[in-house]
Amino acid sequence: MAANDTISIAVLPGDGIGPEVTAPALDVLHAVAGRHGFGVDAREHGAGAGHYRDHGSALPEETIRAVESADATLLAAMGLPDVRYADGTEIVPQIDLREIFGLYGGVRPIRAWLPEAVPLKDPRGADIDFVLVRESTEGLFVDRGKRNGDADHATDTMRITRAVSEKLFHFSFQLARQRRSHLTLIDKANVLGSMAFFREVFDEVATEYPDVTTSRLYVDAAAMLMVQRPWDFDVMVTENMFGDILSDLAAGLVGGLGLAPSGDIGDKVAIFQPSHGTAPDIMGKGIANPLATILSVSLMLDWLGRRRDDPRLLAGAADIEQAVRRALAAGDATTVDLGGKVRTADVARAVIARLGNR
Ligand code: NAD
Repeated sequence: MAANDTISIAVLPGDGIGPEVTAPALDVLHAVAGRHGFGVDAREHGAGAGHYRDHGSALPEETIRAVESADATLLAAMGLPDVRYADGTEIVPQIDLREIFGLYGGVRPIRAWLPEAVPLKDPRGADIDFVLVRESTEGLFVDRGKRNGDADHATDTMRITRAVSEKLFHFSFQLARQRRSHLTLIDKANVLGSMAFFREVFDEVATEYPDVTTSRLYVDAAAMLMVQRPWDFDVMVTENMFGDILSDLAAGLVGGLGLAPSGDIGDKVAIFQPSHGTAPDIMGKGIANPLATILSVSLMLDWLGRRRDDPRLLAGAADIEQAVRRALAAGDATTVDLGGKVRTADVARAVIARLGNR
């Protein structure tokens, strides 16, 4: 944080509903900053499919430098199915940014924000509350954008490095320590050599955290258990592709992508964004759910608060979570995807009205 107590935030609204969910999230950020006594210097930067279509660049150098120099970045969503590179692939600067800045820790908190939206119920009454950490720079995404093979075959590579895995596991153990101190490794160590290596590194790092209990699950069994007893998980850590799939499954457990925030965390840079995409089917209708973006602002303040040891930022993060829960409970934030009729702009008003336990 700058000497003047202002946090600098690079804002990348992106495409589709991105700008529609960014505006309410920034309204909440400014309101919470006012309540908790810190300033916000939020500046928008261009990137995404629309930027590529209009300016020929999906991720301008100026935007990369802005992300690098900001205290944190808020990104909404990027990509439009009808705007593609010549090879047919989509514009995905949000993935490029993870690789450029080594954002290995893809944090996906999954909580039962709206109990009515949770399709599964624990007979003992426990709530779903876990964090999935998805490695986000290597794994099966390492050949992303390449077409390896010939007319008769295609190959992708699963790359697991000791350096990234060690950082990922230390990050995950430390996160588990902040919660219920249990970490589950999800892999496919029974079949793939790369995953056996992943597990070996996990086991080595685990010896440094004797206070954190651990489990190891194969990804297929993990998928089943996430449906059968999701309330038993605390922190889970996994490879990039497994995490990509399981994090959508996880969002489905608590009402969908509209309630799934995320953070992509590296050693120096962190980018916070909703887990959903640009939802072209509902763009411009004013019905997008902004809660995943608002909750990503809360994650951002929590990350910054711990990094800076600043109780105001931590209190702001907690305040947003509390206000979201209260607004949902009152029925004032149930958007169409959650079975209600509340419009995007009204969700922000409902959340702001409940800041500070009102
Ligand atoms: P999507 O997440 O955009 O949409 C899936 C479904 O969920 C749609 O029916 C959509 O209307 C709904 N939905 C998503 N977010 C919502 C919200 N906030 N409120 C209400 N409903 C919501 O996924 P998709 O349709 O597979 O992808 C659309 C575009 O988004 C593609 O171009 C894709 O590449 C891109 N994408 C970007 C990101 C990202 O920026 N991180 C992630 C996923 C997809």
